Amino acid sequence: MNTPVLTIDLGAIARNWRALDVLSEEAETGAAVKADGYGLGIEPVAGALWGAGCRSFFVATLDEGIALRGLLPEAAIYLLNGVSGDGAAEARARGLIPCLNAPHQVAAWRGAGGGPCALQLDTGMGRLGVQPSDLVELLADERETLAACVLVMSHLAFADEPENPHNALLREAFEASLGALRPALPNARASLAATGGTLLGPAFHYDLVRCGIGLYGGLPFADAEPVVMLTAPVIQVRDVPAGSSVGYGATWTARRPSRIATLPLGYADGFHRALSSATPVWIDGRPAPLAGRVSMDLLTVDVTDFLDLSEKSVVEIVGPNRGIDALATDAGTIGYEMLTALGSRYERRYKGADRN
Ligand SMILES: *Cc1c(COP(=O)(O)O)cnc(C)c1O
Repeated sequence: MNTPVLTIDLGAIARNWRALDVLSEEAETGAAVKADGYGLGIEPVAGALWGAGCRSFFVATLDEGIALRGLLPEAAIYLLNGVSGDGAAEARARGLIPCLNAPHQVAAWRGAGGGPCALQLDTGMGRLGVQPSDLVELLADERETLAACVLVMSHLAFADEPENPHNALLREAFEASLGALRPALPNARASLAATGGTLLGPAFHYDLVRCGIGLYGGLPFADAEPVVMLTAPVIQVRDVPAGSSVGYGATWTARRPSRIATLPLGYADGFHRALSSATPVWIDGRPAPLAGRVSMDLLTVDVTDFLDLSEKSVVEIVGPNRGIDALATDAGTIGYEMLTALGSRYERRYKGADRN
C-alpha cells in the first residue's frame, strides 16, 4: 500500500474517559467531540465514548449536533457555539441543547419555543458567553426562557497552567455569577472544567466536566493513554551525490553521498510545513532527519545511515517513540491542532473499544 496508516485506539479513548471519570469523582464526565471528534472520526469516537458510559457530549456547531444526534439518539448534546435565527428551531426539533452565549441567542431560543438550554458565561476568558454584568438585565427580560436552563457553564483560560493564579480568579467570578443566578435557576447544574480544569482538583469540578483533549491522549492529561499512531510507507528511495539538493527551494544539500526516502504524506495531511528540518521521523526506533521542505503530499527523509531501508520499510511519524504532543511542539503548536489537522487521506484503522 502507498497510503500512510492512521491507527486510532478506541479502547484507549474509552479508558481515558474512565480515568477522567474517576478523577472527576462525583461530577458527571462529559466529552467534547467537536471538529469530528478532534479529527479522529465522530462516529467511532462517539460510539466508543457512549459504550464507556459517557452520556453528555459537546460539539461546536448545529451541523455537528445534528450529525451526532443521528449517531446517539439518547445522548445529551450541547452546542457550544449556541444558536441564532433559523438554527434555533432546528436545534429544538432535534432535542439539542444550545449553550446560549448572548442575549440575542436567548431571544432566538425563546422565539423557537424555548426548552432545555445551557447558559454560558464569560467569566474572564473574553471569548464567548454572557458578561456577568449583563446577567441582572437578562434575568429580568428572559426569566421564563432561562427557567428551562439545565446547565450554567463557563470556561477557564489557563487550565493547562495549574499554578496560574487566574484559575482561582476565574473560579471566583464563576461562583459569584452562580450565586446571582441560583434564585432564578434553582435546578441548573454547573460546569467549569475541560480536561485541564478537571486536573485542577475537586473545587473546579462542579456537576459536570467537559473533557476533550485528554480523551484523545493529549496534554495536559499527562497520564493519558496514547490514542493515535501514524505510520507511512516509503514510496521511493534514491541515492544522491554530495552537493545535490532536495525539495522546494533546495533548502537541503547533501554534504556526503546520501540516500533519500520519500514518504507519501505532507502538509495537506497535517504534517505541517513548519516541521521541515525541525523534526525527525523514526525508523526501527531511531530518528531520521527530514531532508528539505515538507510539500503538500510528500516529505523526504535523509536515510543515509539506515542501511536496511527499502521500499518495504514502514516509518513511524507518531507512535511509541514520539507522541502527538512532541510532534506538536516541534511544529510550534499544540496537540489539539495536530489532531484536528490530520485530514482525510490516511487509511484509518480503528482498534476496537472494550464495552462495559
Ligand atoms: C473544546 C472545549 C472543551 C474541551 O476542552 P479540552 O481542553 O479539549 O478538554 C470544553 N469546554 C469548551 C467550552 C470547549 O470549547
